[in-house]
Amino acid sequence: MVELKNVSVTYSSGVDALNNVSLRINDGDFAFVVGSSGAGKSTMIKLLLKEIDATSGVVTVNGYNLSKLKKRKIPEFRRTLGFVFQDFRLIPSMTVYENIAFVLRVIDAPIKYIRKRVPYVISLVGLHAKTNSYPDELSGGEKQRVAIARALVNDPQLIIADEPTGNIDPELSYEIVELLKGINDQGTTILMVTHEHDLVRHFGGRIINITDGEIVFDEVILGTSDELAAETIPDMSIETSVEEKTVNEVPSDTGSGFVSGLSQGEEAALLSSGEDIDMSIDDMTPDDVIAAITGDERSGGV
Ligand code: ADP
Repeated sequence: MVELKNVSVTYSSGVDALNNVSLRINDGDFAFVVGSSGAGKSTMIKLLLKEIDATSGVVTVNGYNLSKLKKRKIPEFRRTLGFVFQDFRLIPSMTVYENIAFVLRVIDAPIKYIRKRVPYVISLVGLHAKTNSYPDELSGGEKQRVAIARALVNDPQLIIADEPTGNIDPELSYEIVELLKGINDQGTTILMVTHEHDLVRHFGGRIINITDGEIVFDEVILGTSDELAAETIPDMSIETSVEEKTVNEVPSDTGSGFVSGLSQGEEAALLSSGEDIDMSIDDMTPDDVIAAITGDERSGGV
């Protein structure tokens, strides 16, 4: 759970990076945070990791009140988080297995547990065949999967992904978000910072827009993938949904057999149910909404 109550951050230079921001992300939620460069996204992430403190207001993450958190308690707090960086930050001299096992070793997890848990998370991200590869033998998408497995291995309550698709091929970006969505379906809260509007438009869900240090938009929108699923409600078959996706040039899922822990049919049914969709703005197309929240002309403007 993440809660910001009237949070402001003013850097010593006098820049007001966040201005009276209030926000709540409940356990099990998935939220995209969008906003242009300099809007305050990194400042918010640094707050959530307790790299910096709020100038005023209260930040609570996973039950820890960060303004009151003692220095010696910070490592304990951070163990409740997983973090995925834009530039992967894998250790080049370690294999995939070692990069992930390392996280458990530093917290003195029992060897027996490490030997079970690491192969498990590697298979969740579909990289079993690359267990003994080194980072420079992997594609960008594969490196990010390793980073996601590393974030996941400690079974965190919350994963913060900061532009996780920023350094990988656009077509693979969908797979990375699918993977994060699958992890979210298993109960992990996910906060993903991105400025890739196509991704947000495709997946929909909760979108929080920060502009000039303020939250100017916080709504759940219907993604284009949800719309496709909704159109096929009456007699949706797996074939139909796959065909529709192909027509829309949406890349396939991870191919790892793990997306959400649900079968494809169950997943499609869940999407088509329109659960968690705020219908109050459903007369806007995703393009309208993205344009409204980002002011991005490429999105068509409003
Ligand atoms: P974003 O991640 O959305 O690009 P940031 O949170 O990095 O935005 O920046 C928000 C504002 O705070 C910007 O005006 C930026 O120049 C300023 N800023 C960021 N970090 C610092 C810092 N360490 N010292 C002073 N100003 C900063």
